Formats: sequence, structure tokens, C-alpha cells
Amino acid sequence: MRIGMLGGTFDPVHLGHLRSAIEVREALGLDKLHMIPAPQPPLRDTPQVSAVQRFELLKAGIGDTPGLLADDRELHRDGPSYSVDTLSELRQQYGDKVPLVMVIGFDAFLRLARWHNAEQLFDFAHLVVISRPGYQSPWPEALKELVGNREVSSVQSLMHNTHGGLLMLTLPSLMAISATYIRERLQAGKSVRYLLPESVEQAIFKYGLYQIDE
Ligand code: ATP
Repeated sequence: MRIGMLGGTFDPVHLGHLRSAIEVREALGLDKLHMIPAPQPPLRDTPQVSAVQRFELLKAGIGDTPGLLADDRELHRDGPSYSVDTLSELRQQYGDKVPLVMVIGFDAFLRLARWHNAEQLFDFAHLVVISRPGYQSPWPEALKELVGNREVSSVQSLMHNTHGGLLMLTLPSLMAISATYIRERLQAGKSVRYLLPESVEQAIFKYGLYQIDE
């Protein structure tokens, strides 16, 4: 068994998230990929759309996609959402014998050294970083220090252990879609068709989300 976690604000979930989730699950041979919205992302402003609504959009977006799981565990936790706490919970849930992987995009990776107890992430899980169009910058010094010599060059070497490794991965479908771009278009009354699943677009219009500048 191999388990993955893809955390995020999902404000709202889009095809960049979902297509990457499918491809990373295939590339790593994951049985399950938990997609986990953060109610209070520590390093950004509080989203205008509630965590429960973002979770509902995520559920609608995933639909019946095999292996992808909309996971609301961070919604039941008080205070800021720290990934290290989520990984510790997943580790307890699945036990010590299974490889556990945290998946993040390259943009998030560049800020990793600023995360709460960042060095502890590797005590629980591997880190898999997926490339994202538009983000290609040298690693900050603090990040190099944090990563040390953890990087491996293949899925096979990563999966020799249950945690503690780093793999940089370029997935086949690179999508230059961001939630920021979608929110901007919705606020401007412009089309977001084909940037996110139709089910998510329908829910956004049904509940009138993102369309008014508050
Ligand atoms: P925002 O524009 O509001 O910052 P976002 O589109 O970056 O949002 P998040 O919810 O912050 O989405 O992202 C969750 C995770 O998914 C992060 O690790 C991020 O790097 C990754 N991610 C988001 N969009 C893409 C994409 N198009 N391709 C690959 N990874 C992505």
C-alpha cells in the first residue's frame, strides 16, 4: 500500500489540481491520494469562501475519480492548518510500514523552509515536488539546507523507504491554471469554462461564489 496527501487552499479546485492528482497517483503507484483543504492556510490571507464550501467544491470536482479522496480532516481541527500535524495523523492511521508521500507544487516547495516545523515533515513522509508552468527559480539557501541530501532520482529509490526522501517530478500534463486566475475571471464576469470541472463551475454559479468583490 502507498498513500499520498495533496493539501491546498483549493479556492477553488481546478483542473491543474485534479489532472496533477491523477498523474502523480499513477506515477507513484499510490492506492489513495488524500486531497485536503486547509481551513486557515498559515501563509496566506483567509479565503473569502468558507472551508466547508471549498471542501464541497473539491468533492464535486473529484466526483467518482478512482483513488482520489476529498478529505475534510483539517476542517475539524482548531487553529492554523499545519501539514506536519496532518501527516502525523495519516501516519497513525496507516501505520509505520507504508510509504507516505506529501505532494506539493514547485511554487509551494520554494516556500517550504518557512513552514511550521518543516524539518519534521520528513519524519513522517516523503516529499514529491511537481513542476508548475511559470515557476522555475533557484532553490533558496534555507531550502537547500532543509533538504540536505534527501533527493533521489526515481520512484523506485523513493519507495525503498517509507519516509524521508525527496523526488522532483515533471508530470506529462503541465497546466498553467491557478485558482487566483479563476477568482479574477469570476470577479470580472468572465468565463472559466474548461479551467475547472463542469460540476465545480455549476456549484460556483448555484451558490453565487467568487463573483462579487467583497
Ligand atoms: P492560488 O492561485 O489561490 O494561490 P493555487 O492554484 O496555487 O491557488 P492551491 O490550492 O494553493 O492552488 O494549490 C494546492 C497545491 O497544488 C500546491 O502544492 C500547488 O503548488 C499545487 N498546484 C496548484 N495548481 C497547480 C497546477 N496548475 N499544476 C501543478 N500543481 C498545482
